[in-house]
Amino acid sequence: MFHVAIIESINEKAIDSLSRNSKYSYEVIENFDENKSIDKLKDADAIAIRTGVLSEKAINQCKKLKIISRHGVGYDNIDLEAINKRNIPLTITINANALTVAEHVFAMMFYFNKNITKFDKSVRNNQWSKLIMDGTKIITINSELYNKSIFILGYGRIGKELASRCLAFKMNIYIYDPFINKDDLGQNIKKIDELEDGFSIADYISIHIPLSEKTRNLINKKNLIKMKPNAFIINTSRGGIINEDDLNTALNDNIISGAGLDVFDEEPILHNHNLLNNSKVIMTPHIAAHTSECWERHGRETLKNITDYFDDNLDLNTVVNRDSINL
Ligand code: NAD
Repeated sequence: MFHVAIIESINEKAIDSLSRNSKYSYEVIENFDENKSIDKLKDADAIAIRTGVLSEKAINQCKKLKIISRHGVGYDNIDLEAINKRNIPLTITINANALTVAEHVFAMMFYFNKNITKFDKSVRNNQWSKLIMDGTKIITINSELYNKSIFILGYGRIGKELASRCLAFKMNIYIYDPFINKDDLGQNIKKIDELEDGFSIADYISIHIPLSEKTRNLINKKNLIKMKPNAFIINTSRGGIINEDDLNTALNDNIISGAGLDVFDEEPILHNHNLLNNSKVIMTPHIAAHTSECWERHGRETLKNITDYFDDNLDLNTVVNRDSINL
């Protein structure tokens, strides 16, 4: 029998299916503290972990440990060097959240093109108008996603889920991802080689690249200025990729129409941040991947990576340190 230490509670249905598997025993460790909880880890053949921190000291005390399965895709809470030395694979839940984030982008696109919240407000205020007005001035009229162009930065897991949904809406899809081969693109998806070219054709821009020294401030006044005045930019990736001051200026100067932001340079966003006073921005608190379904998928995938490992059936794409260990 293999023992699984589950650090911090995960979806109950996921735990339930592990509990029905006679090959495994498990313990959920709430309020995990490496120093205080180490006794609970010592007998673990596998660790499932969310946000708790696992240092080299703790890892080395887990003599039976064979696999660590992270609930989520980031893994800076685990000492990678330490597990590499022990030849322990670290898996992540690569399939759980891509579609959830893609749907969040759609929610933001629909916010901009259908203006539901603004119309809701006007109906409640006894203003039965089919246009969004400011006094006698027409502010906006609804538009369609059909035949609009979307520029997707990053054609990875989320970028692909988004593109497939945009295809269903018969949008024109352009992607920018220097690491993707033209031949690996689906039908009706065009690759853009120069970032700026995508900015000038897009009605919507959606960002799905990781934050790195190369991508920090990648989107700034130089490319925002190339956007169409009626275009929108959406960031559900990482704060810091868009220069927030440049974005605020572009919105105030009517260079672009709006921005949807789930992620910020500093989180939580500072209470006096200038974007908070900008009515052309809609914001969510880094929740693009937070749905009950996604939570369940994360839980199931976290434990599946463990059971797949012991069944000798592990998808190596889930193993972040596969190049550093012998599997
Ligand atoms: P992924 O690794 O599957 O895809 C990222 C893609 O970006 C890859 O195809 C890569 O080739 C490409 N890329 C890397 N550098 C690039 C660059 N300089 N220019 C253009 N393309 C580049 O990642 P993913 O799972 O699709 O996630 C994308 C981002 O979304 C990550 O930064 C992740 O942290 C973020 N994310 C946010 C949330 C949220 O709650 N808002 C949830 C999940 C993921």
